[in-house]
Amino acid sequence: MTAPWTLPDTPFFDDAHRAVVDALNAWIASEAQALQHGPPGGLEAQCAYWLQSLARAALLRHAVPDMRQGTPAVDLRSICLVRECLGYHAPLADFVFSMQGIGAAALWQRGDPAVCQPYVQACQEGRKVAAFALTEPEGGSDVAATRTQATPDAQGGGYVLQGAKSYISNGGIADFYVVVARTGLQPGAGGLSALLVDAATPGLAIHRRIDIVAPHPLAEIRFDQCRVPAGRLIGAPGEGFKVAMGVLDIFRSSVGAAAVGMGRRALDETLARMSTRQLYGQPMSAMDTVRHKIADMATPLEAARLLVHRAAWLRDVRGQRISTEAAMAKLQGSEAGFAAVDAAVQLWGGMGITSGTVVERLYREIRPMRIYEGATEVQKSIIGRQLLRGAA
Ligand SMILES: Cc1cc2nc3c(=O)[nH]c(=O)nc-3n(C[C@H](O)[C@H](O)[C@H](O)COP(=O)(O)OP(=O)(O)OC[C@H]3O[C@@H](n4cnc5c(N)ncnc54)[C@H](O)[C@@H]3O)c2cc1C
Repeated sequence: MTAPWTLPDTPFFDDAHRAVVDALNAWIASEAQALQHGPPGGLEAQCAYWLQSLARAALLRHAVPDMRQGTPAVDLRSICLVRECLGYHAPLADFVFSMQGIGAAALWQRGDPAVCQPYVQACQEGRKVAAFALTEPEGGSDVAATRTQATPDAQGGGYVLQGAKSYISNGGIADFYVVVARTGLQPGAGGLSALLVDAATPGLAIHRRIDIVAPHPLAEIRFDQCRVPAGRLIGAPGEGFKVAMGVLDIFRSSVGAAAVGMGRRALDETLARMSTRQLYGQPMSAMDTVRHKIADMATPLEAARLLVHRAAWLRDVRGQRISTEAAMAKLQGSEAGFAAVDAAVQLWGGMGITSGTVVERLYREIRPMRIYEGATEVQKSIIGRQLLRGAA
C-alpha cells in the first residue's frame, strides 16, 4: 500500500489539477493487482492492457485532446502530473500514455481536421495506437539530415515514400505513423514534410523488431514504393521540421516528469530499505554516508521537478515557447532520475542488480531516457545556443 498521490505544494498548479490527482489515485486503486505483478501476457499484450486501462480511466485525454469542439489543446502540467505518477508506478504505462500523445500531437496541431479528427479521437479512446517516425538508421540526433524521400505521386496526387526509420516506438503495433520525410530538393530542415501513413499501406514493412534493455516495443520500418494518398500531408510542404519540433516542444519536458517519477520511486524504495537493512549492528540509515547519498538522490530530483513544473506552467499559463526550459527540464529530469536510480542500486548492493527487484527494473527502464527525444548532449546544445543567442 503506497501513500496517496498528492498535488505538488507549489504555485504552479490550480484547483483543476486536484481532479487529475484524484483520477490518478482512483486509477492506482483500480489497478493495484497489475501494478504489483504486471499485466498479463507478453510485451504487446501488456501495452494493450495499459492502453485500455488509461482510456477507461479517462487519463489518455490529458495526452490527446478532443478535436470535436473548439481549438484542441493540452494542459502540459496535467501531462507532467500523469507522467510522474505513471513513471513512479508503471513505466510501461507511461510509455503507452506518452506515445499516444506524441503520435497524435502533429495531427491535432497541424493536420487537416477532416482527415485527422477520427484518428485523434480513436487515439484518445484507445481504439488506435499511434507512432511518430523521425529517427533513421543513419542517425537520430541530426534531424536535418533525414534521408527518407517522399516524392510527389504522379498517379494519385499524394506521395511515394522510400527509405527507413529506426527505433520507432510502437513499430509493428501502431495503426498509423506520422512520418517525417524529405519532400523538397533542398538539403537540411527546410526540405522536410510530415505525412500521416496508415500501418496497412502497401510498401510499409516492419523490417525488424529491436530489443533494448527494458520492455519497449521498438522496430525499424522500411518504405518501398509506399504510396501515401493525397490529403495526408500534415502542415504545409516543407514544414516537417516545424511539425516535429511542435510535438517535441510539448512532450520533451514531460520526459523529465516521468524520469523524476522513476527516481522518486527508487528513493522511496531505498528509504524503506535503509531503515530495515542491518549493517555493522545498526540500520544502514544510521550511517552518515548513507544519509549523504540519500540527500544526493533527493535534492537534484526536487530541483528537476521544479524545472519540469515551471516549463509546463510557462507554456500553459504564459503561452510561451519553452524550447530552453523544456530542454532544461528534460536534461535535469533524466539525469537526476538516472543518478537517483543508480545510487539506489548501489545502496541495495547485490539485491539492486538482482532480477525482479524494483530498483533493478528501474535501472533498465530509466536508461533510454537520457538518449531519446534528444540525448543529454543535444539538450545542452539547445540550452547553450539559446542562452548565447540571448547574449549576442
Ligand atoms: C527507447 C527508445 C524509443 C525511441 N522512440 C522513438 C520514436 O518513437 N520515434 C523516433 O523517431 N525515434 C525514436 N527513438 C530514437 C531516438 O530519438 C534516438 O535514439 C536519438 O535521437 C539518438 O539518435 P541515435 O540513436 O541515432 O544516436 P546518434 O544520433 O548517433 O547519437 C549518438 C550519441 O551522440 C551524442 N550526440 C548527439 N548529438 C550530439 C551533439 N550535438 N553534441 C555532442 N554529442 C552528441 C549523444 O550522446 C548521442 O546519444 C527512440 C529511441 C529509444 C532508445
